[in-house]
Amino acid sequence: MDLMNYVDGKFQAHTGEEWLDVVEPATGRQFARVPLSSPSDVDSAILAARRAQPEWGGLSHSERADWLEIIADELESRYEDIASLESRDTGKPISLARAVDANRSVANFRFFADMIRDHRGEVFEMADADNFVTYRPVGVGALITPWNLPLYLLSWKVAPAIGMGNTVVCKPSEMTPLTANLLMEVIDKVGLPSGVVNLVHGNGDGAGSCLVSHSDVDLVSFTGGTSTGAKVAASASPHFKKISLELGGKNSSIVFADCDLKKTIEGVGRAAFLNQGQICLCGSRVLVQESIYDEFVEGFIDSVESLKIGDPSEESTQLGALISSDHLQKVKEYVSIAKDEGGHFLTGGDDLKIRSSLSRDLEGGYWMAPTVIGGLSPDSRCSTEEIFGPVVTVHRFKTEEEAIEIANGTRYGLAGSVWTEDLEKGRRVAEGIRTGMVWVNTWLHRDLRTPFGGVGDSGVGREGGKWSLGFFSETLNVCVKR
Ligand code: NDP
Repeated sequence: MDLMNYVDGKFQAHTGEEWLDVVEPATGRQFARVPLSSPSDVDSAILAARRAQPEWGGLSHSERADWLEIIADELESRYEDIASLESRDTGKPISLARAVDANRSVANFRFFADMIRDHRGEVFEMADADNFVTYRPVGVGALITPWNLPLYLLSWKVAPAIGMGNTVVCKPSEMTPLTANLLMEVIDKVGLPSGVVNLVHGNGDGAGSCLVSHSDVDLVSFTGGTSTGAKVAASASPHFKKISLELGGKNSSIVFADCDLKKTIEGVGRAAFLNQGQICLCGSRVLVQESIYDEFVEGFIDSVESLKIGDPSEESTQLGALISSDHLQKVKEYVSIAKDEGGHFLTGGDDLKIRSSLSRDLEGGYWMAPTVIGGLSPDSRCSTEEIFGPVVTVHRFKTEEEAIEIANGTRYGLAGSVWTEDLEKGRRVAEGIRTGMVWVNTWLHRDLRTPFGGVGDSGVGREGGKWSLGFFSETLNVCVKR
């Protein structure tokens, strides 16, 4: 399967001769190729977006909302394709790809269609004048997305960006381009005006960096790793582009003695290992109040060991493969670091048991057992750096203050969860954590109207609901004296 760029309403061959292999994580086999796009491919896409912007930006909110609905309907008709392509491309279980990736991708377009249809300017009255605030398109947007939730995150950017009248150039991760290609098929099929949405495939250092640093791009919405985010910020800043950075995380799940133990074990396990722990919001450090530490750990390990790992295309699979050989290597390095740092493995740490249970077809895949490590200091590398895999560290704490101090002991500040039957304490502790989002007695329970984003090494800015509409627009205030 050879994919093509989508520029100015057409699937187009790239200008060079080079391709990048797309590998299936569950088998380690190449199954598709994407163009290694050149700067001139990026230029063409930006030019198409620039040409299309005035007319598209001139449509009413309700006309653009209608287009988002049309895209949502067509995407929904390809629900099963989204799930199976995403599962094959990322190695995640098919049930997860349906419930999370396919569902949310459609929901993102519907949600922003409704929001944009109802979106109005504001009026601020003074004694002798009125201020009229209107929201105008920013211009051409560069949308850069990672491999862990490919279409979920791309649709989260495309829908509000074009809904607010911008035109865009997308650059998905070279490792997971298939559903971005599917979105272009959908856009092509419904006949969205040419140039409104463009896509260039390629690698980050090439097409990605060329796109974000281009002088004719007005805004950059980037989701990815913290060190890449720093490069993106540096190349976007000389042109004073609007920029939103959704970066890495090292999130704590804080378990108090008064929690509902059964629900907490289930919730903390989901937070730790969903998508093989490859979600920026995953709770990869579990802080447990001393008096229930042993009881919690025993139940937690039982539940982790019962997770079914294997073929992502099987309905009953709960954990799939990691994204790539390099990433697996990086995660395993942290396992070695944990050993050096004095950690002891409560479960996992290797892939021997998994390998013996896999069919021959899956032997070349990137597998790792869910791993829980105790005995590490909360300021050890494994407990403070983002591992982004199925590896969790467990720590004890005595008081609320100590739990907050440990939770705040990383440079990241994206998310977290607190588990207690005392809801007032839950809120109090949540508000003590230096982070962007905290759930109490739940995790990844998303209301799309709420702000999403982090502080510190987890990024700059918020997306979601009215925050997305604000980011993907420029406000104008006109003050009229009566
Ligand atoms: P990367 O930072 O490696 O890549 C993200 C995207 O940026 C990819 O499309 C990549 O292209 C591209 N890219 C790489 N280098 C550059 C560059 N110099 N200029 C422009 N674009 C570039 O992240 P991963 O794909 O490895 O994703 C995992 C990371 O994403 C984790 O740290 C995770 O926490 C974070 N993340 C954050 C989320 C949030 O909302 N805060 C949500 C999901 C993930 P290519 O892959 O082709 O090289």
